[in-house]
Amino acid sequence: MKPPAFSYHAPTTPAEALATLAEVGPHGKVLAGGQSLIPLLNMRLAAPEHLVDINGVTGLDRIDVDADGVRVGALVRHARLEADGAAAAAVPLLRQGLRLVAHPVIRNRGTTVGSLAHADPSAEMTAVLALLGGAVEAAGASGTRTVPAADFFIGPMESCLRPDELAVAARFPRPAPGSGSAFVEVARRHGDYAVCGVAAVVTLDADLRIEAARAAYLSMSPVPLVLDLTEAVAGRAPGTADFAAAGRLARDRTEPETDIHATAEYRRHLAGVLTARALREAADAAAHDTAVPGLDPTGTRSAR
Ligand SMILES: Cc1cc2nc3c(=O)[nH]c(=O)nc-3n(C[C@H](O)[C@H](O)[C@H](O)COP(=O)(O)OP(=O)(O)OC[C@H]3O[C@@H](n4cnc5c(N)ncnc54)[C@H](O)[C@@H]3O)c2cc1C
Repeated sequence: MKPPAFSYHAPTTPAEALATLAEVGPHGKVLAGGQSLIPLLNMRLAAPEHLVDINGVTGLDRIDVDADGVRVGALVRHARLEADGAAAAAVPLLRQGLRLVAHPVIRNRGTTVGSLAHADPSAEMTAVLALLGGAVEAAGASGTRTVPAADFFIGPMESCLRPDELAVAARFPRPAPGSGSAFVEVARRHGDYAVCGVAAVVTLDADLRIEAARAAYLSMSPVPLVLDLTEAVAGRAPGTADFAAAGRLARDRTEPETDIHATAEYRRHLAGVLTARALREAADAAAHDTAVPGLDPTGTRSAR
């Protein structure tokens, strides 16, 4: 099908983009990579009267890595972020999750911030932002605000962005020193949205015992679900921790729904199995990777 008619706007500065968004209000939509919006238009599931294409807006394509983490501009494509070595070194979960987003051709065009704005609870980057306690920078006619992930996602396909707001960047914090991460999921076919996905971060203390274990889930709840599973594995070395117990805890704490892709019970089963796997991988990464206590924030290995 063809999309319904719309007026096309192509601002070239952030100020122009914000003025256009304020003018068209709830009748407008931002167009970034178009990998979610264009299919919705073509299927006539959305019919905005105005499309505000931000692809020509200057200054939105930066990836900045500093001691706090990674700041990703609104025009950074998934593929560029995935390929960025400094971003992957600072926040390994970014590359671990991005390689699971759709297919390369979609990652070449789709933006990471667009994925967050789209707020699909099956999207990898929503889980990464939620697990790391990241935030979205939103600019509007009345100024800029930084919205923590916990407040940003308010329902399936629904963020707290107002119609006149542009998400200009997302911030992904560095995990604490001594942390390792992993992202595992089950999809029907490679590149499909996951039936269940789990992102995990495990943090070790100075004695290489587990200090904290957290996981975030996709396709399991209306907004990204983050669980603290520390109680099941705290104080154990990665090699002796009972990750299956953490998996059972996760399974008991998830309440997915049945849909055309899977039953709720199958999803809960997957949550248990994938949690154990993700935590084990994350703990191994924490123990063996460069991310050990005593590191400087650039991620360089230090003698222990
Ligand atoms: C076949 C297929 C498979 C896919 N599989 C996956 C998958 O497995 N995992 C996954 O995570 N994603 C998947 N995607 C989605 C892909 O990651 C999208 O690119 C992404 O969700 C949206 O990014 P975009 O830049 O294309 O946004 P667009 O499609 O341009 O916009 C999406 C929505 O976000 C809004 N928006 C975008 N940018 C901004 C902004 N800066 N400020 C305010 N609002 C904004 C738009 O107005 C629109 O409502 C898939 C897409 C396709 C077509």
